[in-house]
Amino acid sequence: MRLRNVKGARDVMQESEYVFADPDSMAGQWKEIFGNDNPVQIEIGMGKGKFITTLAGLNPGINYVGIEKYSSVLIRAVEKQNELKLPNLKFIRMDAEKITDIFGKGEVDRIYLNFSDPWPKDRHAKRRLTSKEYFARYDVILKQDGEVHFKTDNRDLFDFSLEEVENAGWKLKAYTFDLHHDEKLNEGNIMTEYETRFSEEGKPINKLIAYR
Ligand code: SAM
Repeated sequence: MRLRNVKGARDVMQESEYVFADPDSMAGQWKEIFGNDNPVQIEIGMGKGKFITTLAGLNPGINYVGIEKYSSVLIRAVEKQNELKLPNLKFIRMDAEKITDIFGKGEVDRIYLNFSDPWPKDRHAKRRLTSKEYFARYDVILKQDGEVHFKTDNRDLFDFSLEEVENAGWKLKAYTFDLHHDEKLNEGNIMTEYETRFSEEGKPINKLIAYR
């Protein structure tokens, strides 16, 4: 994603009650933060946040946490949430590498990864959010019957991800190389910003659901 230096983004982050910026540790605190026992679902690399904000509006009985590395994109989601004030939606500005400091064992019900950065060079494979190194992190924070839902237009990244699910000792519940023409998997699909852009260009969207 191309980054612009959005003026005042950091100030907006600091003032919003919906964002935690670069937290050290939050594991075990989510029931208290949301004030209820509802399941927690997260999106890593949420960008401008259309997907997770839509989900939070549709499902008030689920708590959502969006994670994004850059203030310059996250600010769009925060500005929207400052207006909507959805009680079940929070954001964290951080690099997901430290995700196990933020969620405790089994604290997350579902992980969404949408159009994650491909990191095409082999030496950067560990940085891909569907690498076995990331699955090892998800293994800690995801409850036993939890799922990872991953969508991408990038076929190379998708093929890598299908292999990494197995390499990590996880299983595939379902997958498709053309989500928008897969009646079952596309049911209730919520488009992300990137998904809208790529499907308008005629690119098929891949999706997999992984579990243990
Ligand atoms: N999910 C959105 C969508 O589908 O429209 C945005 C996709 S964009 C290509 C990928 C986003 O993931 C970027 O905003 C990037 O900053 C974020 N990202 C990539 N690696 C990350 C990491 N390790 N931790 C947090 N965010 C990350």
